[in-house]
Amino acid sequence: MATFKTVRGMRDLLAGDAEAMTFVMDKARETAQLYGYSEVITPVIEPYELLSAKSGEEIRSRMFTFKDLGNRTVALRPEFTSSIARLASTSLKNEPKPLRTFSVGSVYRYDEPQRGRYREFYQADFELIGTSNPVADAEMILLTDRLMKAVGLRDYAFKLGHIGIIRGILSQENVDEKTQNAILQHMDKKEFDDAFKLIKSEECLSTLRGSLELKSDDVFKTAEGIKSHVEGYCKAADSAEELKNVLKLVTEGGCPIQSVEPVFARGLEYYTGMIFEVYIPELDIALGGGGRYDKLVELFGGEPTPATGVAHGLDRIVLAMQIQKTTPTRERPKIVAVVPVNEALKGEALRISQILRAAGVRVELEVMGRKMNKALEDADRRKVDFAVIVGERELKQGAVAVRDLAKREQTIVKIADLTKTFKI
Ligand code: AMP
Repeated sequence: MATFKTVRGMRDLLAGDAEAMTFVMDKARETAQLYGYSEVITPVIEPYELLSAKSGEEIRSRMFTFKDLGNRTVALRPEFTSSIARLASTSLKNEPKPLRTFSVGSVYRYDEPQRGRYREFYQADFELIGTSNPVADAEMILLTDRLMKAVGLRDYAFKLGHIGIIRGILSQENVDEKTQNAILQHMDKKEFDDAFKLIKSEECLSTLRGSLELKSDDVFKTAEGIKSHVEGYCKAADSAEELKNVLKLVTEGGCPIQSVEPVFARGLEYYTGMIFEVYIPELDIALGGGGRYDKLVELFGGEPTPATGVAHGLDRIVLAMQIQKTTPTRERPKIVAVVPVNEALKGEALRISQILRAAGVRVELEVMGRKMNKALEDADRRKVDFAVIVGERELKQGAVAVRDLAKREQTIVKIADLTKTFKI
């Protein structure tokens, strides 16, 4: 039989990598609890139609799409928001608002594999549904800030914009939605010349080109500058005002924004309001991003329901932690190896292991049938703290030998006192 490799773009996360990933997942879950987001678990496979409705051509073309055996066209989720909008328009329709949901898991996109870009990757997703208040948008950035700090990142920066600025200008110039989407997709990839080629109106072009020049180091000045620059376009001007409000609230909430982008787009098509991303200076790909999407729940048959959200790329957060050399500070539990001196005492060793585990002690039972010396050597190699040696002589007195592997000391301990020995 041939040997197998993982499918291109798919990875095995082994010991250290898996631990780093679950550490970040734990921190995301902790953040969800702190901010009042309830966890929901949705399917990895969803109807293609749901996932493709508003994700945008870029993601749509990269979805893992197939027919199931019942001839349904389905796809692996490329993100969580569509599933949550489905919930908000169906099972959670009558829940009191605001609705705060948290999800974590794998998502799938047929991206070109490279550092920080995989075909199966992990996201933590936060959605806040039922309000258009900018304070909800500010919450997305503040909880992202919390997560970055909780995983130990020191140097990271937020980029803030508003999709309504460009869309406002284009709509007023009668650019149809499809062309708008194509323009935004180019802008997302910083292909400004390709984006501008799709615009016919000279006035529109000069406004957009001028916007690119507006960036200054003072983010409040940039936000104010955008507002006066787009004065002639009323929807764009309203959007610029909203952007200013979010910027003010986030700053008041104690999180500085490093850059306000006059011309900023994100891959997903459903955004209607503020959008943002978080970066570290060492990587030119975002660790997370999100924004407001006020029309999606309605599109899926729900009531008109404003909403905002964020998705964090957990693989990239792990990468950022490695780059910035932050070490997860998870407390390592004491490890106890239980070793019977001979095969006949296997059952006794099992019984004692169960007593310890019931008291919360981490026990690794000797299962290889090794001789005592070999078993202790192996315990040393695996950085085990204590060995519980189960022998006939001690058992007759209701006791076992406990060996401290670091100190190389051995004592006889009554089984009834064992859990105390490991300070539980
Ligand atoms: P999006 O759902 O496009 O807003 O992406 C949210 C986050 O997911 C991004 O900021 C990245 O951190 C992460 N992400 C997106 N695509 C990939 C990928 N192919 N591999 C790894 N992480 C990704």
